[in-house]
Amino acid sequence: MSFADRFARARAQMVEQNVDMLLLSVGADLPYLTGYGAMPLERLTMLVLPQDGDATLVIPELEASLVNVQPEFALHAWGETEDPLNIVDGMLGSATNIAIGDTTWARFLVGLIERNGSRTFQNASNVMTPLRAVKTADEVERLRAASHAVDRIAARLQAGEIPVVGKTEKWLSDELARQIVEEGHGKMNFSIVAAGENAASPHHHAGDRVIQENEGVLCDFGGTMFGDDGIGYCSDLTRCIYTGTPSAEFAEAYDVLFEAQAASVAAATVGTPAEEVDRAGRDIIEAAGYGDYFIHRTGHGIGVEAHEEPYIVEGNTDGLVAGNAFSVEPGIYIPGKFGMRLEDIVVAADAGPDPLNMVDHHLAVI
Ligand code: ZN
Ligand code: ZN
Ligand code: ZN
Repeated sequence: MSFADRFARARAQMVEQNVDMLLLSVGADLPYLTGYGAMPLERLTMLVLPQDGDATLVIPELEASLVNVQPEFALHAWGETEDPLNIVDGMLGSATNIAIGDTTWARFLVGLIERNGSRTFQNASNVMTPLRAVKTADEVERLRAASHAVDRIAARLQAGEIPVVGKTEKWLSDELARQIVEEGHGKMNFSIVAAGENAASPHHHAGDRVIQENEGVLCDFGGTMFGDDGIGYCSDLTRCIYTGTPSAEFAEAYDVLFEAQAASVAAATVGTPAEEVDRAGRDIIEAAGYGDYFIHRTGHGIGVEAHEEPYIVEGNTDGLVAGNAFSVEPGIYIPGKFGMRLEDIVVAADAGPDPLNMVDHHLAVI
């Protein structure tokens, strides 16, 4: 998708939402539109995009050379002794309905309100989420490429080609992070490695625990893969391996998880409410008696951000639309014993659920 298309889609949403002006700063909306991400520091970077009229990226002078400027926007570099909010305030002119990026530092929003109290502000997600949640064919292929890259790493883990037993969680986490970059991602975003009872904590921080024989190891990892346009799309994959012969208890729970995950993937058809995708797998986990041990939603959307709309959770009655891309990642976490999760990225497509991760879903015994 070209920059022209991205800007055109944003402007069409602004018309629909009656938004005069879109302001984007720190966060993923800005790179989604421009290919440039604002540094999350104290200096202001802000795209000022009128519904009609020219867009300007207001940026600290010392960072201006980092931007790959496109015909869709001009740069306004501000010097170290200027007040950039005065520059943005001037550009807002008579605009009254303004959408500002949800993750913009509050002091910039407060500063704009202090300069002119007659404007109304709303979250830019009102404009950007409907765009970002529905991937074009080109975006789906970028997500697929990132997914296949982490699949290759998981396949090596499952084949026993990456050392596990005798290594610490931290070592394996660092090794997966290294391979994420080696496989073509511009950066790694997270690399959860949780062994044995540690895997009962879904977002465990990999530590000094040495991975032993005869235990489960949960690996959940992903990164961002950038295109030539500077826009990056994320991967996110979870697989579990077992270092030896799984206990009957572990194997039984994994069979339930396997069946539940497949059921949620199969349910992810266009038109199905997101909460029904959650229920499809949760019903199986509950029926098997593990309901109390599945303590999170089934999934999250994915795109330029690792977590975005749509969320696959009870209460989200929105029907899936073609182009929604999201994780399907049920888990079973038994405190003090073990934990497991099985995660793929799936796209709702007119032809049916399109799973982007193809690596084996069975419990790999190494
Ligand atoms: Zn998570
Ligand atoms: Zn994950
Ligand atoms: Zn995930």
